[in-house]
Amino acid sequence: MELTRKALIGWTIIGICLVVISSIAFSSDLNRKRNRDGLLYWHGPSNQKVIALTFDDGPNEPYTSQILDILKKYDVKATFFMVGKNVEKYPEVARKVAAEGNVIGNHSWDHPNLIFKTNGQTRREILKTGNLIWQVTGVNPELFRPPYGGDDLMTLTQIHKLGYVTVKWSMSFEDWKQPGVDKILTRLPMVQNGSIILLHDGNRLFHGADRSQTVAALPEIILQLKKEGYSFVTVPQLLDEQAGNEANHFSISNKRLVMYPLSQQD
Ligand code: ZN
Repeated sequence: MELTRKALIGWTIIGICLVVISSIAFSSDLNRKRNRDGLLYWHGPSNQKVIALTFDDGPNEPYTSQILDILKKYDVKATFFMVGKNVEKYPEVARKVAAEGNVIGNHSWDHPNLIFKTNGQTRREILKTGNLIWQVTGVNPELFRPPYGGDDLMTLTQIHKLGYVTVKWSMSFEDWKQPGVDKILTRLPMVQNGSIILLHDGNRLFHGADRSQTVAALPEIILQLKKEGYSFVTVPQLLDEQAGNEANHFSISNKRLVMYPLSQQD
């Protein structure tokens, strides 16, 4: 009898431990995910009121230009993770994004989930896009965001080998669901110190995909967060803060001058 009770208590304790461990491991709080220095970042510093807006899947008109106008009006710089095929379609918009002081990151050529691609295919997705962004804007992108967040170890390794830092996100307004402006804004309280915030100016390869809700919500997002005392910075600036303001920790563009001729990509 005594033994059975002990066993019961023992198994209960083990069960509780497993629940606690799994809830930590699969925590939906992306702010608690561990950055891997120089390799993969989910968020910036948790002790400073700095945040970074990021826009995925553009350029996509007229929405990217509308977002640029809003950013300009409120003196906010953001980071745009662009799809190569969309840069090909809207090169002048990509140029404008860079010219207005925003940062451009690489978001693959045609938005596949890279975990289903070979290493060679992954490299081509990254290189072709990086080259085009460089050709169009004169800026060599240093940040990569994998489509759908697909980042198994093989993909991360390829991204890293090509000199990119992988940037995910810690807070999403889930604007891609087009749930309505009010619903998008209900997520504002989820923003925290150091948040890398996910928004969309495009939708994968769909040219002209409707992003009017994102555009409509953006001024309120900026105004509310400014009121709460947050400063808006680009992702490289946020990661500089994360690294303790070491001078230009992330300004690696100028160091990574190795270009990959398009002819060698296929
Ligand atoms: Zn995307």
